[in-house]
Amino acid sequence: MDEHLKKNVLFTSVDTVVNWARASSLWPMTFGLACCAIEFMATGASNYDLDRFGAGVPRATPRQADLIIISGTVTLKMATRIRRLYEQMAEPKYVISMGSCANSGGPYWQHGYSVLKGIDRVIPVDVYVPGCPPRPEALLEGLLKLQEKIQLKHLKKGKEG
Ligand code: SF4
Repeated sequence: MDEHLKKNVLFTSVDTVVNWARASSLWPMTFGLACCAIEFMATGASNYDLDRFGAGVPRATPRQADLIIISGTVTLKMATRIRRLYEQMAEPKYVISMGSCANSGGPYWQHGYSVLKGIDRVIPVDVYVPGCPPRPEALLEGLLKLQEKIQLKHLKKGKEG
């Protein structure tokens, strides 16, 4: 009987199961800013199939989304709107900064007077994806990294719901 139990009973914590479920069913917001957004769209298309990772159904409202992918150049005017969208998202919520523009201002870093030099100046970022633009494979790698962080609970203090 003991041997039978060992093979068929799995012990775990509620936290582990909840984090596994969170990581496996991310709901990204339908949102794009510039050229990087084209690669985001390509990632959702059949060739890369974002659905394989449980994040293939973008939501049209921040209230039904728990992931925002900042894909493109963030102007100073847009930064306040992004902050508002982030505040309206469901908890716990996650942010992927996709591409050089979102990460640091990109090609506009030095002379882009109207460009924010990094989205992490207005909202907290969980994963940075480098590139100009990053290929879909790179965004998928970023998504896998985020799932890993959610499961390992290595998110910044206060981000766990
Ligand atoms: S990082 Fe490059 S590809 Fe992405 S939005 Fe900026 S300029 Fe466009």
